[in-house]
Amino acid sequence: MHAIKEQFDVVILGAGAAGLMCAITAAKRDRSVLVLEKSNKAGKKILMSGGGRCNFTNLYVEAEHFLSNNPHFCKSALKAYTPEDFISMVEAHGIEYEEKKHHQLFCINSSKDILQMLLTQCSDLGVELRTSVEIQKVLKQAQNSSEQRFELLLDERDQKNISCASLVIATGALSIPTLGGSGYGYELAKELELPLITRQASLVPFMFSDEIKDLCEQLSGLSTPVTISSNNKTFEESMLFTHRGLSGPAVLQISNYWRPGDVIKVDLLPNMNAQEVFIEEKGKQSRLTLKKYLNTFLPKALVLQLESLWWPSHKDHALCEISNSELKAIGANLNQWSLKPSSTEGYRTAEVTLGGVDTDALDSKTMEAKEHPGLFFIGEVVDVTGHLGGYNFQWAWASGYSAGLFA
Ligand SMILES: Cc1cc2nc3c(=O)[nH]c(=O)nc-3n(C[C@H](O)[C@H](O)[C@H](O)COP(=O)(O)OP(=O)(O)OC[C@H]3O[C@@H](n4cnc5c(N)ncnc54)[C@H](O)[C@@H]3O)c2cc1C
Repeated sequence: MHAIKEQFDVVILGAGAAGLMCAITAAKRDRSVLVLEKSNKAGKKILMSGGGRCNFTNLYVEAEHFLSNNPHFCKSALKAYTPEDFISMVEAHGIEYEEKKHHQLFCINSSKDILQMLLTQCSDLGVELRTSVEIQKVLKQAQNSSEQRFELLLDERDQKNISCASLVIATGALSIPTLGGSGYGYELAKELELPLITRQASLVPFMFSDEIKDLCEQLSGLSTPVTISSNNKTFEESMLFTHRGLSGPAVLQISNYWRPGDVIKVDLLPNMNAQEVFIEEKGKQSRLTLKKYLNTFLPKALVLQLESLWWPSHKDHALCEISNSELKAIGANLNQWSLKPSSTEGYRTAEVTLGGVDTDALDSKTMEAKEHPGLFFIGEVVDVTGHLGGYNFQWAWASGYSAGLFA
C-alpha cells in the first residue's frame, strides 16, 4: 500500500449530472465528499444539452421510457427522486423554465443555470471538486475494513493517493468523447469482475450506403412528420434528412431500439391510408399526376425524390392511368417505407450509450455493487438508457440521489 495522504467519506469519479447530484445528496448527510473530474470543467454535457437549454426532465417519467436488460431496475430510484423533486430544486434557485411538446422541460435562458445550481449547492455544502484529475488505479482494501475501503492512486510517480469509505463511479459513457465520454467505468467494472451489457451508440442519426444516401443528401435540411418503427416499437415525431442520412427526433428515438442489420419502417403519411386514397382519387377520374396529388400532403422536394425512386415510368401519367396494383404498391411504400441503415453516426454524435454495467450486479435501491460494499455505479455508465425527452437526465438525478443517500 502507498502512503495515504487524504481521507474522505465519499469520493465520486465524474462531475457530470449524476456525480454532482450524488455529491449534493451525500454532503447533506454530513459526509465529506470529494469529486474528481478528468476533464478541465464540470458538467460539459449539461452545458451542451437540449441545444444549450438543457431538457432537464420530463413531467411524465415511467419505467417504460427506459431500456435495460432488467426493465424493473430503474423503478426504485425513479420513485425515490421524481421530476417534481428536481423541479422544486430548479424553482428554489429561481431558474426559469418552460414545458415544450411531449411534456419536456427546458431552461428558458441557458443550460448554464442548471450546472450553476448544482455547483453552487456543492460549494455551499463543502463538496470539494477537483478537475483535470486522472485516476491511475483503484485499490480495494481488505474486505473486513468498513472505514476506508478504497485507495485511489492519482499519480504513479508522486504516489499521491486518497482513501475513502465509499467510491461512486459516475464517469458516464462512451458518447461524445470531446464532452468527456469515456469507457473508464466499464474498464473498472471489468477489473472488478462486474458483468457488462454490450454497449451501442444510441439516440443517434442513421447512415446509409445504398441509393438512400444520395436521396438524403439531396434533401438535406428537410424535415417531415412521420411514424417510425423498428423491433415492435413505434414513435410519431419529425424526421430530418441530412447530408449523411437520417436524423431528427423520430430517428433518434428509434435508434434506441434498432440493432445493426435491422430494417426501419417509415410512414410518410401517418394519418392517411395512401392505397385507399389513391384508388378513391382514381375513381374520380383524376387527371392529376401522382406528384401533383402528393404535393398537397408532403414537401415538394421529397415527392420529387420519391417519384424517381418509386414511379419514374409514371412521371407524366395521370393518376387514373396507373393500374390499381401499381398505385397500391406505391401507397404501401409511402405508408411503410422500408429502410436499412448501414450504420449509425456512432459515438461521435450519439447522445447516449445503450448497455453498460449490468444492473443484476447492483442494488436497485442504493446503486451499490452487490459484491463490492462501498462501490456505487450511477448515471449513464449503468445499463439504463432513456428515451429522448429529459429522461436520461432524470435517470442521472435519480440514480445519483439514491447512491448519495447510502454512500
Ligand atoms: C449533445 C448531448 C445533448 C444531450 N441532451 C440531453 C437533454 O437535453 N436531456 C437529457 O435528458 N439528456 C440529454 N443528453 C444525455 C445526458 O447528457 C446524459 O445522459 C447525462 O449527462 C449522463 O450523466 P452522467 O453523469 O452519467 O454522465 P456525464 O454527464 O457524461 O458525466 C460524466 C463525467 O465523468 C467524467 N469522467 C469520465 N471519465 C472519468 C474518469 N476516468 N475520471 C474522472 N472523471 C471522468 C466526464 O468528463 C464527465 O464530466 C444529452 C447528451 C448529449 C451528448
